[in-house]
Amino acid sequence: MCGIVGYVGKRDAYEILIKGLHRLEYRGYDSAGIALISDNNDLVVYKTKGKVINLENHTADLNRSGKIGIAHTRWATHGEPNDINAHPHFSGSKSLALIHNGIIENYKPLKEELIAQGKTFVSDTDTEVLIQLIEYIQESHNCDLFTAVQMALNSVVGAYAIAIINKNDPETMIVARKGSPLIIGIGEDDFFIGSDATPIVEYTDKVIYLEEEQIAKINLKEGLKITDLKNIETTPIINKLNINISQLEKAGYEHFMLKEIFEQPESLINTLKGRLKIDTKEVKLSGIIDNVEKFRKARRIIICACGTSWHAALIGKYIIEELARIPVEVEYSSEFRYRNPIIYDDDIVIAISQSGETADTLAAIVLAKSKGAFLFGICNVVGSSIPRATHSGAYTHVGPEIGVASTKAFTAQLSTLFLIALSIAHERKTISNEYFESLVDELQTIPDKIREILKLNEQIKNFAKTFTYAKNFIYLGRGYNYPVALEGALKLKEISYIHAEGYPAAEMKHGPIALIDEELPVVVIATKNGNYDKIVSNIEEIKARKGYVISIVTKGDTQVKNISNFSFEIPDTADCFVPILSVIPLQLLSYHIATAKNRDVDQPRNLAKSVTVE
Ligand code: GLU
Repeated sequence: MCGIVGYVGKRDAYEILIKGLHRLEYRGYDSAGIALISDNNDLVVYKTKGKVINLENHTADLNRSGKIGIAHTRWATHGEPNDINAHPHFSGSKSLALIHNGIIENYKPLKEELIAQGKTFVSDTDTEVLIQLIEYIQESHNCDLFTAVQMALNSVVGAYAIAIINKNDPETMIVARKGSPLIIGIGEDDFFIGSDATPIVEYTDKVIYLEEEQIAKINLKEGLKITDLKNIETTPIINKLNINISQLEKAGYEHFMLKEIFEQPESLINTLKGRLKIDTKEVKLSGIIDNVEKFRKARRIIICACGTSWHAALIGKYIIEELARIPVEVEYSSEFRYRNPIIYDDDIVIAISQSGETADTLAAIVLAKSKGAFLFGICNVVGSSIPRATHSGAYTHVGPEIGVASTKAFTAQLSTLFLIALSIAHERKTISNEYFESLVDELQTIPDKIREILKLNEQIKNFAKTFTYAKNFIYLGRGYNYPVALEGALKLKEISYIHAEGYPAAEMKHGPIALIDEELPVVVIATKNGNYDKIVSNIEEIKARKGYVISIVTKGDTQVKNISNFSFEIPDTADCFVPILSVIPLQLLSYHIATAKNRDVDQPRNLAKSVTVE
């Protein structure tokens, strides 16, 4: 959440910063702002409510010169999204400007103290308290800015990624992080900073991932100095980025979300590459191979996740329990971390997060680690915090996901969970070799089957227009398709703002059936697997109450088709792989309903990507 970008060098900073803000806009879009030390040594701050384009229009005729600057897209936590609360924030003397991602939890007592010392505040944000505190420490201790920042951060409770520039030292930027990500890009003779690599990759592939509670001084002449909050210096490790610019463009699609839906056949090939060996009928997941004894002997697996990743986790539970016969518990990270859970030292805790930065999931695994559990991460963003905090893991390798509503990351999480379930089952010999090999063969066919489903796009687009009237939707599924119902409902809510509920189909009669009438669309995922006959009965129950049934059926099915108002066919596959196919028409349905309602699909209201606050 929130995008941070910064530049120190010899080029004009403005263009780099604005371009960076556009790339980061998916992380927050309440407001945008920029601070520059202009060529005549003024520290200027420009900021506007709304999207980056508003900032560009606002600054069109203003002085945009300067070789150093910081910029921010906000996802408001404290104070409404308006021009004043937008970042950057000035210090009282207007010599310093700061941008911040995160929450300063103890901002209230700090603010009261500063007011007692005569400081005044212009915004409602927690962020302004931090920059005022830094300046107050600088003045009262008569120390340099780096020391003042260190001291201030030692008295702050909460999460932050920050960047500060100083009018009186126009070649230096100070950055720090705790709980929110921050990357430093090393150019030829300049430096870049970003919340993630997207604003940096165009200029350099050399990056440093700032660690928890590290603070860095970036100076054009002296280079980089990194210390922790106790002033102990460390030598930074330079990593190589493996993303490219084309992954950050829409490539002719109207929205990133549609592009990402269509990328899925290819992105899944990338997830499976080198891991699914068709010729030798093997699954090779190094994160499991290197820790095979742990997985063989695990008493239990706990999967911690949030949102869409939590739905992937539920499917993971079904498949790991079915194939590998290890009990699996699925937890909302935000609940798990605060309820003193029972964790054994022979538990394996799997954390799933697209960004690898999800604050609650990160906290959940820190807790599990402290109780001795073995941690395994399933993340997409290379070098992010969760992979660095876990003992082992598997990247999903689907490239940047920019659309706020997750699509390709979800299916990649599923494929990774399939690989994990297959590896453990094989190791534990809980399934026969023949069955294992047939599943390996089947998994290989999934990308082509997704390609086939994507051909439904036009049909779904036309059909979706019918539903702009709807105020509610229900999604039903059983077994492996129950979490898919949850995911379908979430996707619709997120981007169309239509209220939608997902339920296990059998639960309908315990409440939601009261909602059914001619107006309520009910999406039923009724593929030909385990519970087919049961779900047919559930559909009959809906029809008996005049409900409108949209079904997802297996190719060639006529029974469900005949009793549905509308059906979409998907290819057949093994029961345990059905979710990765049945979710695809639901992604398209949500997308097209949302666009028919003129929603901002890539940047839906109130949401943002990479949830770095609790
Ligand atoms: N807490 C800060 C604010 O509300 C930062 C929010 C963000 O991460 O965008 O301004």
